[in-house]
Amino acid sequence: MDLKQIYREVVNEHNLYPAHKHDIENPTMTLQGVNPTCGDDIYLQVRINDEGVVEEAGFNGEGCAVSQASTDIMIDQMIGKTREEALKLVENFMDMIHGDADEETIEELDEAAALQDVAHMPARAKCATLAWHTFEKMMAGEIED
Ligand code: ZN
Repeated sequence: MDLKQIYREVVNEHNLYPAHKHDIENPTMTLQGVNPTCGDDIYLQVRINDEGVVEEAGFNGEGCAVSQASTDIMIDQMIGKTREEALKLVENFMDMIHGDADEETIEELDEAAALQDVAHMPARAKCATLAWHTFEKMMAGEIED
């Protein structure tokens, strides 16, 4: 299998068998993310503890394979991270999608690297970044409070 096939497999796997597509208990934040150009519509739930660590996260909603897989992969990587670490992850992911990330950064993104190919298709890039933008907005909203 070449790398592109492996990436496709990762996306398929997370789309068909998402580990985090469910409500979580006592979310501290819930935010809807919508990508009208494709029809992706998700609800992201996050529980952050007093130490600022993402304890648990989940999502619901509908959307294409890329948006669903990207959301599931993002949540996988965010659980256990501090708010700052999670936001750094978002930054790195956006850099990758925009073609600005170096190899080391892409490697650190682990499974999320599977979405780098969609960066060449602007319409799909919105699907891939939906959850990440939603998380960023959520965190920005929390800081404003
Ligand atoms: Zn989509």
